[in-house]
Amino acid sequence: MRSWRITDAELRQWLQRLIDGAGTVIAPASDDGLLVYRPISSADEAVVEASGITRWSAKERLLPRTETLYAYTASGNEVTVASPPTEPSPQVLFGVPSCDAAGLLRLDDVLLSGIEDPFYAARRRATTVVSIACAEAAPECFCTAVGGSPAGVAGVDVRLAPLGEGWLVEPLTERGGELVAAAGVAGWQEATAEDRTKVVEMEHRVASSIGREPVPPEWAELLEAGFDHQVWERIGWYCLGCSVCASVCPSCSCFDMHHEADVFGGEELRTWDACTFALFTRHASGHNPRSTQAQRFRQRLLHKLAFRRSDEPVRCVGCGRCVALCPAGLDIHSEVVAAAAAIAEEVSNGTG
Ligand code: SF4
Ligand code: SF4
Repeated sequence: MRSWRITDAELRQWLQRLIDGAGTVIAPASDDGLLVYRPISSADEAVVEASGITRWSAKERLLPRTETLYAYTASGNEVTVASPPTEPSPQVLFGVPSCDAAGLLRLDDVLLSGIEDPFYAARRRATTVVSIACAEAAPECFCTAVGGSPAGVAGVDVRLAPLGEGWLVEPLTERGGELVAAAGVAGWQEATAEDRTKVVEMEHRVASSIGREPVPPEWAELLEAGFDHQVWERIGWYCLGCSVCASVCPSCSCFDMHHEADVFGGEELRTWDACTFALFTRHASGHNPRSTQAQRFRQRLLHKLAFRRSDEPVRCVGCGRCVALCPAGLDIHSEVVAAAAAIAEEVSNGTG
C-alpha cells in the first residue's frame, strides 16, 4: 500500500476530519491530568505522542467495565424485555501503542473464537485501530520479551510513526486504507524509502533499549512442571489481591455476571473480574480451589505467560502497566524470570 509523510499540522487536520466524519474518535487525552483513552471532540484534545502509555488500556472501549446484557420492566403480569443496542456506531481508536493493539487480538482470541460474544463482536467490527510506533520505551515496557515490537503492526489498521519532523502514515489493511482515503491524502507528500528506513532504525533502537530477558516458549512447559514449586509461595506472598493488574491489562478478559432487580424490573450486568480476587474461584459450597493469594498470583502469572495453545503467543503483550501500578511492587516479568530460574535449578539438581 502507499504511505505518506505528513506534518504535525496535517496530522491534526486529518484527526479533526475523522472526528467530524467517522463517528467516535477515542484517543489518549488528559482527564484531570491522567492520560486516558476517551472520546475527543477536537483534535487539540488528543495527546499525540510517540511515548507514554495511558493509565488504562484501550480494552474498555470494546469490553466495558460494566455493561447491561439485558433489562426488563415488570407491571402486573406483564414483563417487557429491553435489550441494549448491538450495532454500535463506528469508532476509531487513535494513537494506541503497538502493545495495546496486540492486546485487542488477545481479546479476540477469547471473545470472538468459538461462541462469539455479540456485544464485543459488534464493537470490534465497528472499530478501526490507528497506532503510533513508540520512539522510546518506559522502564516497565517489555513487549520485545513476549514477541512484540515497539512498532509492531499486529492488530493495526493504520500505523503512524514519528520521523523527527512529521509522521509516516502507513495504511496496513483495507479498512485502514479507507480511513486514510476518507479524511486525508489530498496534498499529502508520498513517503520515501528513507522515511521508512528511519522508522525501521527507530524500531531497532527502541527495541534494543528494552533490556528485558525474552520469555521463550519452552518456559511454558517448565513453569507448568514446577506448578507446586515453593517459589510461587515466596513470590505470591506479596500479592494483595487488589486486581489492579488485571483491571489495567489490555489482554485480561474475565468477567462476572450478576442480576439486580426490584418489583418494577431488573437488569443482568456483567463486570470485569480477575483471577487475583479471592472469590473468583470460590464454589457455592464454600470450597476454594485457589485458597491462598500466592496460588491466585501464580494463576495470573501462568495464564499471562505460560498457559497457551502451541500456535498462540503468550497472552501478556508486555505493556508494563501492571508492573508500574502494582501496589506491592510485583513485576510480572521479573517474577517469571525468577520462577523459571528456581524451577530450572531444581530440575537440573534432579530434585524437581
Ligand atoms: S499482583 Fe499487584 S496489582 Fe495484582 S493483585 Fe497482586 S498486589 Fe494487586
Ligand atoms: S500482564 Fe501486565 S505487562 Fe502484560 S499485558 Fe497485562 S498489564 Fe501489560
